[in-house]
Amino acid sequence: MPRAEVTDLLLIEDLLTDEEKAARDTVARFVDKEVLPIIGQHFRDGTFPAHLIPGLAELGVLGANLQGYGCAGMNTVSYGLILQELERGDSGLRSFASVQGSLCMFPIHAYGSEEQKERFLPGMARGHIIGCFGLTEPDFGSNPGGMRTRARKDGDSWVLNGTKAWITNGAIADVAVVWAKTEEGGAESVRGFLVEKGMPGFSAKEIPGKFSLRASVTSELSFQDVRVPERNVLPKVMGLKGPLSCLNNARLGIAFAVTGAAIACFEGAREYSMSRAQFGGKPVAGYQLTQEKLADMLQEIVKAQLLGLRLMRLKDEGKVTPVMVSLAKRNNVKAALDIARVARSIYGANGITDAYPPVRHMLNLESVFTYEGTHEVHTLVLGKAITGIDAFN
Ligand code: FAD
Repeated sequence: MPRAEVTDLLLIEDLLTDEEKAARDTVARFVDKEVLPIIGQHFRDGTFPAHLIPGLAELGVLGANLQGYGCAGMNTVSYGLILQELERGDSGLRSFASVQGSLCMFPIHAYGSEEQKERFLPGMARGHIIGCFGLTEPDFGSNPGGMRTRARKDGDSWVLNGTKAWITNGAIADVAVVWAKTEEGGAESVRGFLVEKGMPGFSAKEIPGKFSLRASVTSELSFQDVRVPERNVLPKVMGLKGPLSCLNNARLGIAFAVTGAAIACFEGAREYSMSRAQFGGKPVAGYQLTQEKLADMLQEIVKAQLLGLRLMRLKDEGKVTPVMVSLAKRNNVKAALDIARVARSIYGANGITDAYPPVRHMLNLESVFTYEGTHEVHTLVLGKAITGIDAFN
């Protein structure tokens, strides 16, 4: 399903291979048929549409860009395109896929033992095992290095204590990749632990009162003397570079995906503005102020698409850097959020209800603005790259 001609003004379609388009189109059909008709109600009810997981797995969405172990092995562009379609449906559904694939399957794939890969990845690709990623804590978000969660070696296992907050998929996860401080040989480090549902002392509860990502599970995880066997420790990574590499991987997808929400808002607002008449029967699309809004939206979508696509191609060529990812995440999420707000205004009063998608996307995008590195943190990453001066502290 090529983007409507008006949205793809710069013929970005021509820059995609047949394989990439096919990956996108199957997910686009799934979103049109299975997601759009039900997502508004899930958002209203604050429920995650878990019944969609087998369908997503069937399409190869879960861990789509990983090789082997039952994963689809797509290139990064295809992965980005399918995430973009999911985000056209809802950022909550896309968050589920990002966390499962980029934040949980990726570290097991990259840093796990062969036994861990065989034990978890095929089941995760099939959607039988759900994963989450625990880095953020109640008092440490932008600065994960301050984390208080600790793991102490005791015989042939580790004893984990601490709390993780704002964890996507937390309460529905079968396995949590939990990052904790360790002390080995007198040196402090950070290691990744595969904490499984049902391990004594591990509990997860949903965070109530969200106005954003309501169709997504967001939880607090608690660890009280949880005994984690050595075979559940990721053996191939130590230090903060472990979780940060996962985040970089997820952010890349998000930077590209978020334009899906912007496209849904733009295309909906355009259609609405052509049929909604005010002052003598003229559609609101016929007034210059509305046209300026639509022109600004389209311009930002085209720029975000080009930026996202270039980023994904650089990833496939092995040339992407964290600073590039920061630039794209910062630009594209802000653009999508601005577009959702302007689209909402075009719907007038109707726009504040969940009968139309922009306000849902707008509220969701507030989370996307904050997670995976806040807008401000990405500004500081860029500032440091530009000036050489670290403004974080
Ligand atoms: P803080 O770090 O307290 O920041 C508060 C404000 O201060 C922000 O505006 C921030 O940009 C600004 N700020 C902080 N430091 C600086 C500085 N040096 N200079 C200038 N400004 C600064 N985490 C996980 O580990 N796993 C998940 O699955 C996950 N899912 C999430 C899902 C949702 C819906 C949300 C909202 C969050 C999720 N997070 C998750 C957590 C997310 O990554 C953090 O919220 C984020 O890192 C910001 O941390 P914080 O909320 O503690 O804000």
